[in-house]
Amino acid sequence: MDVLIVGGGPAGLSVARQLKGAPVLEEDPDVGVPRHCTSIVSRRGAEEADIPKSLWLATYDTIRITDLSREVVFAFPNREIVLIDRPGLERHLSAYADVRTRERALSVTPRVSTKRSVYRADTVVVAEGARAALSRGLVGKMERLSGLQVDVRMRDGPEEITVIVNRAVSSTYFGWVVPLGDGTYRIGLADAEGVKAKLDLLLRLFRAVPIDRPFGGAVLRGPMARRLVYGNVAVVGDAAGMVKPLSGGGIVMSMIGGRTLADALRRGDLARYDSSVRERYRVFTLLSRALADMLYRQRMGEKLLQEFAGERLRAVDYDNHVKTLIMASMGARGMLRLARNAHALAAALMAAFRLVGAP
Ligand SMILES: Cc1cc2nc3c(=O)[nH]c(=O)nc-3n(C[C@H](O)[C@H](O)[C@H](O)COP(=O)(O)OP(=O)(O)OC[C@H]3O[C@@H](n4cnc5c(N)ncnc54)[C@H](O)[C@@H]3O)c2cc1C
Repeated sequence: MDVLIVGGGPAGLSVARQLKGAPVLEEDPDVGVPRHCTSIVSRRGAEEADIPKSLWLATYDTIRITDLSREVVFAFPNREIVLIDRPGLERHLSAYADVRTRERALSVTPRVSTKRSVYRADTVVVAEGARAALSRGLVGKMERLSGLQVDVRMRDGPEEITVIVNRAVSSTYFGWVVPLGDGTYRIGLADAEGVKAKLDLLLRLFRAVPIDRPFGGAVLRGPMARRLVYGNVAVVGDAAGMVKPLSGGGIVMSMIGGRTLADALRRGDLARYDSSVRERYRVFTLLSRALADMLYRQRMGEKLLQEFAGERLRAVDYDNHVKTLIMASMGARGMLRLARNAHALAAALMAAFRLVGAP
């Protein structure tokens, strides 16, 4: 066989959708479940990745950032943020694909073996997600946090997406509340440790009552793999660290990475996949990672929150938090206030990375 794909998530299925007929091995009984993801993307990303509007469950125009005592509100024009039907996305992408469920790849070189079969393929696409059991030895170490969330019901919950920057909730990242409609919400957090206890704390703080079981998984902060092709093995999606380090979001990058890979496979030019994806994302992900470190680890996010507390700022780009922060603060004539903080100034300078090619 020409191409064999391991993993039936957005990355692997995006390859399969373009290369009609390429088999996909998926270890679970169905695609899209169990769920692990919050499923928020930017409108621009959803359009770029061709996520059909029928899978847009909700759109939002506001993000509230709070440390639980102060808050700043970012208003996005054009209802920029989209909640995706995530199992629906996998079902959509797999509509014409040859997905072989309950087939877990145990090794990929020199052949792909599962409990039941041994597959030979000219090219193996590893799209196994953040667990990266097969690809870790190839792509090297990535930074992983644990993400845990649950769908809840609560009274008088926030009307907009709420991001919680508070050490008790997450000491290295952030928590979130996403309104789902009809008084239901998705509430969760990512952190290096103790996520179960911290989710319980969040539930108490918001007086939220779970209506389903908690779900989650590894949230990646990068870095993106230095190489995406290793002989006849190509790595794509979370397995290759294709995520936005500032939010851990990777749906759109995985899908665009998958599409680019399929295009290169059709042309018989795998090297083109490696160079075009790294050209497009590498600088963006490297600099975003540095910024994520400043915002979350060095707690610059909390300092900026203090500086802008109580304000409603116009935001410009959901995918690029720093650009949004800089532009919003300029709009509020807040550049001087930003500059009062040395870290923030560094962030402002680094926002210039937009000039060197973010997505
Ligand atoms: C808590 C949490 C919240 C998130 N929220 C968002 C968000 O709001 N927005 C966003 O853009 N991103 C979010 N993400 C990240 C997003 O889910 C991933 O970036 C995206 O799923 C990556 O797609 P993928 O296809 O690379 O991997 P996955 O979606 O993980 O798919 C990998 C597939 O491979 C299968 N598999 C794994 N190993 C094998 C094997 N050996 N053999 C066969 N099959 C195998 C798995 O069962 C799975 O179906 C979140 C992640 C977490 C953990």
